[in-house]
Amino acid sequence: MSQQGYVATPPYSQAQPGIGGYPTGFGASPPQAHYGHYGAPPQPYTAQAAGVLKPAASSPSGMPPPPVSSQYGSPIQQNGAHSQKFPPPAVSAPAMPPYGQPLQRPAYQSMAQATPPTQQMTNQMSAMSIGGYGQGPLQSPQSPTSSAAPQPYQMPSAPAMGHPPMSPTGHQPPSMSACPPMTAGPPMGATGAPPMGMPNSQPGLPPMGGGGFQQPGGPQGFPQQPGYIPVIAGPYGGQMPGSQMAGPQAGAFAGGFPGGAAHMAGPPQKKLDPDSIPSTTQVIEDDQAKRGGQLYTTNLRGQVPPLVTTSFTVQDQGNASPRFMRCTTYSFPCSSDLAKQCQVPLATIIKPFATVPKNETPLYVVNHGEAGPIRCNRCKAYMCPFMLFIDGGRRYQCSFCNCVNEVPVQYFQHLDHMGRRVDLYERPELSLGSYEFTATLDYCKNNKPPNPPAYIFMIDVSYNNIKSGLVKLICEELKTLLDRLPKEEGAESSSIKVGFVTYNKILHFYNVKSALAQPQMMVVSDVAEMFVPLLDGFLVNFQESRAVINNLLDQIPDMFADTNESETVFAPVIQAGVEALKAAECSGKLFIFHSSLPTAEAPGKLKNRDDRKLVNTEKEKILFQPQRGVYEQLTKDCVAQGCCVDLFVFPNQYVDMATMGDIPTHTGGSVYKYSNFQVQIDGEHFLTDLRRDVEKSIGFDAIMRVRTSTGFRATDFFGAIYMNNTTDVEMAAVDCDKAVTVEFKHDDALNEEAGALIQCALLYTSISGQRRLRVHNLSLNCSSQLSELYKSCETDALINFFAKSAYHAILNQPVKTVREILVKQTAHMLACYRKHCASPSAASQLILPDAMKVFPVYMNSLMKTPVLVGSAELSTDERNFHRLSVMSTGVEESQILLYPRLIPLHSMDVVNEAVPAAVRCSEERLSETGVFLLDNGQNLFLWLGQACPPDLIQSLFNVPSLAHLSPDMTSLPELDNAQSKKLRSIICAISQQRPHSMKMVIVKQKDKPEMLFRQHLVEDKGLHGGASYIDFLCYVHREIRQLLT
Ligand SMILES: [Zn+2]
Repeated sequence: MSQQGYVATPPYSQAQPGIGGYPTGFGASPPQAHYGHYGAPPQPYTAQAAGVLKPAASSPSGMPPPPVSSQYGSPIQQNGAHSQKFPPPAVSAPAMPPYGQPLQRPAYQSMAQATPPTQQMTNQMSAMSIGGYGQGPLQSPQSPTSSAAPQPYQMPSAPAMGHPPMSPTGHQPPSMSACPPMTAGPPMGATGAPPMGMPNSQPGLPPMGGGGFQQPGGPQGFPQQPGYIPVIAGPYGGQMPGSQMAGPQAGAFAGGFPGGAAHMAGPPQKKLDPDSIPSTTQVIEDDQAKRGGQLYTTNLRGQVPPLVTTSFTVQDQGNASPRFMRCTTYSFPCSSDLAKQCQVPLATIIKPFATVPKNETPLYVVNHGEAGPIRCNRCKAYMCPFMLFIDGGRRYQCSFCNCVNEVPVQYFQHLDHMGRRVDLYERPELSLGSYEFTATLDYCKNNKPPNPPAYIFMIDVSYNNIKSGLVKLICEELKTLLDRLPKEEGAESSSIKVGFVTYNKILHFYNVKSALAQPQMMVVSDVAEMFVPLLDGFLVNFQESRAVINNLLDQIPDMFADTNESETVFAPVIQAGVEALKAAECSGKLFIFHSSLPTAEAPGKLKNRDDRKLVNTEKEKILFQPQRGVYEQLTKDCVAQGCCVDLFVFPNQYVDMATMGDIPTHTGGSVYKYSNFQVQIDGEHFLTDLRRDVEKSIGFDAIMRVRTSTGFRATDFFGAIYMNNTTDVEMAAVDCDKAVTVEFKHDDALNEEAGALIQCALLYTSISGQRRLRVHNLSLNCSSQLSELYKSCETDALINFFAKSAYHAILNQPVKTVREILVKQTAHMLACYRKHCASPSAASQLILPDAMKVFPVYMNSLMKTPVLVGSAELSTDERNFHRLSVMSTGVEESQILLYPRLIPLHSMDVVNEAVPAAVRCSEERLSETGVFLLDNGQNLFLWLGQACPPDLIQSLFNVPSLAHLSPDMTSLPELDNAQSKKLRSIICAISQQRPHSMKMVIVKQKDKPEMLFRQHLVEDKGLHGGASYIDFLCYVHREIRQLLT
């Protein structure tokens, strides 16, 4: 089917607001739009609002908070006390149409305009000079003519390939062949490498579907497509048929070179215009221009949201906000055959606690009293907008499993003439995509309401940490930070209790009971049998014990000032934390501040196993695998207790990050790493992280279930999670930054009418100790046309999925195999589009689906990350740290990490508030006279060109020239001039968007630290291996052509 001409389909062509707007699949939906009643006067039907409704986070104006004691109290009394209707959303920004009004052209309408869904590379490359490319390095000198010539490609010698025609100006010569792009070691596909289509032959490879990395490209991947020929030749380098080399230049660039497909004797060589290949910055800008600043209403099934980089306002009208759930595609293929054919992963990235901006409505909390939430009898799905009421309102059909359920008497409500409950808009669970239920005792451990959680601060007081001043820094900070523990909206103070432990080879517990004049220390030196020596007085309320705690925090640095103990334990520290929470019968979080490999004699003792000779071998996976034994059991204990572990590590050398970070990343925790920590330089960076971590919104002792409508199900889960079985996602805690990526597989055919429904239900304990259920619902389209799937893809979500699944796969498979699978799958997804969805055109043209046109640059960037690049130059801890931090990230973070923002500052308009438009991440874009800021969500680099104007340096740094600039500077001086103010405001704005504090690194052009900066220029050839964007694109194009041959 051709996608050249945009064909509007129902969801896009009609404004169908409200729940009734589901175009299909909801049989009783009204044929015409009936608008909701948010904010509208109360209806005559005032069937009792069966519960207290309030936003979970902050009350919309006019909404009184429910009584604190209401959680397990009588629902009837609550109803009496709060008889008001479902309150109007807090959102009252004039730009947003109230729910009760006909919608103006909603945001999605714009998708129906303008760009056709298919973007031809040739269009974009019209400016490209083809002739030069034709004789560029990609050309096989041996086979200049035929596009079907069978002779093997002879790798030209490096000098021959070193000439620069394809090279962007002044850029390092690209290198399809001079330097095998994908690896620092042997080229992919070289001797010893398995054929790419057959990684399953690798020993140790998990079976498909078993949580391992799926093998996409092999012969079995093409069952319905006899036309596809599985590739068996090695990829890069190796045995490329020469004919294929004609592909890129004859193909991608044929548009500007009519008739010259494979003829080498073209016009004189010219440089390839780097502007001509799909640009991420352009895609981001276009989406911002088209959909930025708009209201995004979630009333339509299968609606593709704006990009994560676009700023927009969400109004929940029956589907979860994209802040909570984003999908790789919003149109699932109807059959598993189609899914296999296209190999586009079907996945959703769920961030259940995502921060909701102040101008959007926080989640309502629904309290059904002792009866608890209404659930389907068969599949246990929670009441949601997808349920279909029938039989005059006495029964409802579950849209997930089709079971017909009785409506409980107290929940009964009449239906209107269109079959909708008349209280539809008074009940969040009937009209909104996301909401919360208060859980009954049935949802609590041992049928007892939980206690409020506790935070335990566990400080390594060994020699290094004392000497560096870290211990003093932490203790000073805690004195003020503990006043900012998160609290329930409206509460006077936080319910979270706090406790303190210090340790080196032994552990010291502190009694900080408010009645004491002085804190008391209790020492446990038998770390093999960890126990908590005191119960009363260990976990306390900070407000009550403030004096004793401050006294303790003053004393700790002095107590250990003369220590010469450099050995530490680690596992017993976590064990102690779990035992303390167990004794207090609560969940909570451990904040561990640790600096060295735990080598002291104790359970969980670690040794240096940093063997970089394993890099690029079959055994490389060992470097990523954590040590098991004690740590495995400890993970289970933590999860069972709802004990989240946050690790702040300050290493001067190898610390076995793979093992030490394993418990945090299975308990919803975070790992922070500050190598070679110096208080002066890194102190503020660390403290900012600590503050954010302590203050952020979080739920504890969480368990998540992802339910789906019939025909497909959730099969694989990636995140800071623990899975005891195949369905329950356990998280000791889940905070606003943690995302779980869930992959779906078909187990039957899907129905275009019914669509694909997903319900994510998260049971958790709130910071005040309430047990709650947070429910997110999302409805997707289904289609038997793959073109619909490709049209509804989201590249940022796709790359999040690929990053996590690849980073998971390397635990079991050689890194090289994983990279090969990624390349294969990329080519396959694009080839399938080409074959089934694009208009007929010359095989030599590279045609990309519009929604995936920058997918290759992200994929190439992913393969150049420290984890996948396979370079022995990189520290094993750094690779593991990177791996662990990506496993729980949401789409926003993986996007910026894999395509950093490079902002030119030298020409910024100081009057205008806007941040200057980003440029492509390539050295090509830098200029000697320029100043650039690079933000990848983890680091912030300020790059200064050698010849950047002294007056700009003066304005920003208050020094006369670059030579006077201290390399240790990590923040800008506060100077009273326009440039300084503007740059500081840009940095401040960027920092606030990111979950982590970003240390600013000043990079002078040609100075040594420039290497650190350059590895983030993801369009260029990787410093540690890996292709440039353009080389990768050409390579993928060749692969596609092979698949299509
Ligand atoms: Zn059901």
